[in-house]
Amino acid sequence: MQSHAPTVFSTPERLGALDRLGDEIAELSAHLDAATARLLDLIREFDACGGWNGGFRSCAAWLSWRVGLDLGAARERVRVARALGTLPLLAEALARGELSYAKVRALTRVATPETEARLFSVGRAGTAAHVERIVRGWRRVDRRAEARETALRHVRRGLRVYQDEDGMVVVRGRLEPEVGALLMQALAAARETLYQRARVSDGEGGRGNVSEETPTLAQRQADALALLAETALHHELDPGAPGERYQVVVHVDAPVLADPDQPGQSVLEDGARVSSETSQRLACDANRVVMRHDEEGRVVEIGARTRTIPPALRRALHHRDRGCRFPGCGVRFGQGHHLHHWAHGGQTTLSNLSLLCRRHHRAVHEEGYQVARGPDGALRFKRPDGRPLPEVPSPAAVPGDPVGALRARHDSDGLRLTARTACPGWLGERLDVGWAIDVLHPRAEKRTLDGAASR
Ligand SMILES: [Zn+2]
Ligand SMILES: [Zn+2]
Repeated sequence: MQSHAPTVFSTPERLGALDRLGDEIAELSAHLDAATARLLDLIREFDACGGWNGGFRSCAAWLSWRVGLDLGAARERVRVARALGTLPLLAEALARGELSYAKVRALTRVATPETEARLFSVGRAGTAAHVERIVRGWRRVDRRAEARETALRHVRRGLRVYQDEDGMVVVRGRLEPEVGALLMQALAAARETLYQRARVSDGEGGRGNVSEETPTLAQRQADALALLAETALHHELDPGAPGERYQVVVHVDAPVLADPDQPGQSVLEDGARVSSETSQRLACDANRVVMRHDEEGRVVEIGARTRTIPPALRRALHHRDRGCRFPGCGVRFGQGHHLHHWAHGGQTTLSNLSLLCRRHHRAVHEEGYQVARGPDGALRFKRPDGRPLPEVPSPAAVPGDPVGALRARHDSDGLRLTARTACPGWLGERLDVGWAIDVLHPRAEKRTLDGAASR
């Protein structure tokens, strides 16, 4: 007996009492696992319906805010909830209290609908530590298989461009996923530009000009590809420095910035109009150059480039706010938001500024969320409908006897949970992870039967 363990007199009565205590722990744990299954079902549904999408970055951010989980644990819940949507065996085993949440969490890192049944047996037979080790070994095999596939994909990339008999040029190819994503993004941006140009020229041509048929998506894609090629050649195939690539330049007339109803323009460099709410957001924290025009629109004076928020003030702001102040967010990098916009005469002072991440800066300027500083100096956020969005929501009501309520619910669901429900089938043999994976994993390079048996 270890010196720190309490001295125990093992009378039969005492042993009996400890057994009952142990059984109660095991039974209640099974109840909690079964309840966790229900919780994950609810999270999956909430996530799928975008229930969190009112101002939160993700379902995990909402969960962290609403129930007080740390963000890592919240992300893990959402991941497991999503995974269980396609893994009915594991989902049901958790709901019956037969597999603990810890095991299910580990198994969902590697399980697919095809391998679920084998991994379920691993979960039933092994302890949580076995499951964890098998999953780690399984991932190594998955990663090796994935690396082989990635290499294969790279070899299979290709693009063929040739002229057909009728003179049309045919384009056909296979791109690696990330290159494909880049192409699709570029095509979407080019389509958008063409759409905006078409709107402008439609506007000039008057309303009667809509007789032309709207082009199909394939036709618009073809036009977009032409624009991409033109643009690429025009810019001598220079992708630009990362900072410049996403830089946005807006030309705003001063009256528009102060009052959206004022006549005037608010356009991007390429001529696309943006809403005055967007230009206010972009101007909130930006480099600013004031140009004065004469009546004919000629530039008569250009001021020096200034930052709306000077560097020293920005440092103080970062130091005070430490991250986005939107409830439940806390992203470390952000933009300085003027609670009272400078275009309306708001001052660029620490008390009139608040740090907001990109996502939430948009929420405040363009999605109707409101933020103001209360008389006590604390920030108050409101939803678009005016309801307050508290920093920490009040906890949900819990029945006086939560364990009794949980048991009663499971009873009425016909779920019989005992101290033995979640017991592993393991009898104490040594676990050979390598052998187990070779036998279980569908993509493991199988050893010979002899080799496996002799181990
Ligand atoms: Zn702002
Ligand atoms: Zn944020």
